[in-house]
Amino acid sequence: MGFRFELIAGDAHSRARAGLIHTSHGLVPTPAFIPVGTQATVKALTPRDLREVGASIVLANTYHLYLRPSPEVIVRLGGLHHFMGWDGPLLTDSGGFQLFSLTGLREVDADGVTFRSHLDGSTHRLTPEKVIAVQEQLGADIIMCLDECPEPMDRAYNEEALARTHAWAARCRQAQTRGDQALFGIVQGGIFPDLRRASAEYIAGLDFPGYGIGGLSVGEPKEKMHEMLEVTVDCLPADRPRHLLGVGSPQDLFECVTRGVDMFDCVLPTRIARNGAVLTPTGRLNLRNAGYTDDPAPIVEGCACYTCQNFSRAYLRHLIKAGEIVGLHLTTLHNLHFTLDLMRRMREAILAGTFSKLRGEFLAGHEATEELGG
Ligand SMILES: [Zn+2]
Repeated sequence: MGFRFELIAGDAHSRARAGLIHTSHGLVPTPAFIPVGTQATVKALTPRDLREVGASIVLANTYHLYLRPSPEVIVRLGGLHHFMGWDGPLLTDSGGFQLFSLTGLREVDADGVTFRSHLDGSTHRLTPEKVIAVQEQLGADIIMCLDECPEPMDRAYNEEALARTHAWAARCRQAQTRGDQALFGIVQGGIFPDLRRASAEYIAGLDFPGYGIGGLSVGEPKEKMHEMLEVTVDCLPADRPRHLLGVGSPQDLFECVTRGVDMFDCVLPTRIARNGAVLTPTGRLNLRNAGYTDDPAPIVEGCACYTCQNFSRAYLRHLIKAGEIVGLHLTTLHNLHFTLDLMRRMREAILAGTFSKLRGEFLAGHEATEELGG
């Protein structure tokens, strides 16, 4: 099997660490940010653009691809890498997060989830075995166990959901038939330290090649998220990568790398780009604001991305106001470049022993804007 995690360096003052994930489709330097390609495309970008902004790995959503175009179509077209024209490392999620976001459309029992398609109302059933079979058809390098993502503050619901998540993780492990995909177990447990600890210990006991941390950044206070991360990371083996699902603002990336997270995926940089919001070292700019009408400056002075090298805030604002699709392309390109560059700088700083300095400088100059990931 091509998957291997190489731990290269740890920061002396925090749990931050630098590593390298080996897959049969290439390397992923960690800490890593994974752009989200929900429908087998990162919205508004081509794989060529993703290479240019420095993406080493891309995520696609099993739930969406299962419903459309279907795993059978993707198999006939040569698998997900070939189908979407991305020959680098790929990760598919289990669909759990999407299934549990569909309130009113689903029923959960011990064996799996029955739900109605958000596209045409047709009824479907996903079990742990089926979710693994679909991800084996898609063929990503990293795949995920089916988990249940409950409302984070509801203790009774979290206990019940955790029992299912654990039973499903064991069944996913059993159901796996391909040897060339790394299956990650997912830790849940809401905002309850004892549940998080129990979950991390149980899932780690199943001996997965990597671990996802789910059910955070879904509405709980930031301090709770940090506390849950600390509890969880302490119970996970140091020689396996840890992937925090659905987190991706610059401030959160720093806070969570500090707490020992190696991989992140989030729609935030690409979603806000399509609303005209762009990331800068000092915080978020909304290019729709009238103040940018005559602004000749790039989004970020000195940014090496194609957008900042060639276009002014005034021009980007004009494109967005006029509804021109290239505007969304250019803002997405910048936001991903910015986020991926931040991860590269964090990795270099961890290797150089200067992570705390970088973190302190960045956070001191950065005005965080609260927005949920997912
Ligand atoms: Zn830029």
